[in-house]
Amino acid sequence: MPTLLKDLRPRSEKRAAALKDTRPRVTLSFYRYVKIGNPDAFRLRLLEAWAALGCMGRIYVAHEGINAQMNVPKEHFEAFDAWVQAQPELTGVPYKIAVEEGPMPSFYKLTIKVRNKIVADGLDDDSFDVTNTGEYLTAAQMNEYIDDPEAVVIDMRNAYESEIGHFENAIIPDVDTFREELEVVPKLLTVHKNKKIALYCTGGIRCEKASAWMKHQGYTNVKHLKGGVIDYKHQVEREGLPNKFKGKNFVFDERLGERVGDEVISHCHLCRTAKSDTHYHCKNQVCHVLFLGCDACIKARDGYCSAKCRLTDKAPEKLKKLYARYYNRYFRPAQFKKTKLRAG
Ligand SMILES: [Zn+2]
Ligand SMILES: [Zn+2]
Repeated sequence: MPTLLKDLRPRSEKRAAALKDTRPRVTLSFYRYVKIGNPDAFRLRLLEAWAALGCMGRIYVAHEGINAQMNVPKEHFEAFDAWVQAQPELTGVPYKIAVEEGPMPSFYKLTIKVRNKIVADGLDDDSFDVTNTGEYLTAAQMNEYIDDPEAVVIDMRNAYESEIGHFENAIIPDVDTFREELEVVPKLLTVHKNKKIALYCTGGIRCEKASAWMKHQGYTNVKHLKGGVIDYKHQVEREGLPNKFKGKNFVFDERLGERVGDEVISHCHLCRTAKSDTHYHCKNQVCHVLFLGCDACIKARDGYCSAKCRLTDKAPEKLKKLYARYYNRYFRPAQFKKTKLRAG
């Protein structure tokens, strides 16, 4: 198989090809903050090895490390693991294996990008000690924090993530990006400065940076959930602990969420009455807004977020262009957040 430098096929074609490949896959994620001297060379090394194994996913590489969300054909998982563990930058890196595999693959292609940072946090890393991270909390310790009235649990994810699932008693900042979160949280919570604080996110990566940042801001007792909600679920099952996470854990792949608690805690954004924790992207590519939809509304609007989006999607090219041009100013539905997905 030739090295896949850039897959230029249209999305629909990639999707169709991926759907034909019905081999069972393992969806996993991992990250590591590690000095990478030459991210471009590192990227090529990953690309060559992982394309040959049929891996798909979205991976960010930077001087500061790697953040990977991907899937691997089950039959190649051993080879994949052996290869990863043999790389000096990755030896011993723990994987977070997805809680559930959907009927559709979690990714349709392999994308590896070199970035300035592996998570967009807006921080100047030279202005504080990024290695001064908080201690880890296990799932059992996290449960103790949740029950402890003296402790504060903070959700470090975006509002569209915490809307469908979060820990009992957690503080849930209403923010759209991690950058905003890091700005808002230290300012809002100064009354808790000397309390026991537990941070959590999807897979743990955001809390590595956030815990160091909070400590730099004068918070003395900051810890964070190791492996995030994904690993919490595994630990809860393995150790028979009570599950204190309600609802779904938002994930950054085609599945958009994995169930952790049984209950649905959010509502459909269209009718505002039926319960739903299923995310959809509006089928109109101009819009593509992320929203929660109940079965009835999705059926009634054919997967579009609004009648305007449905109509213009089938309109002549000229009209479509106009819609695209004025979408943000006039047509973006007010009840949805301006949300663009970013791996976290
Ligand atoms: Zn509805
Ligand atoms: Zn729309």
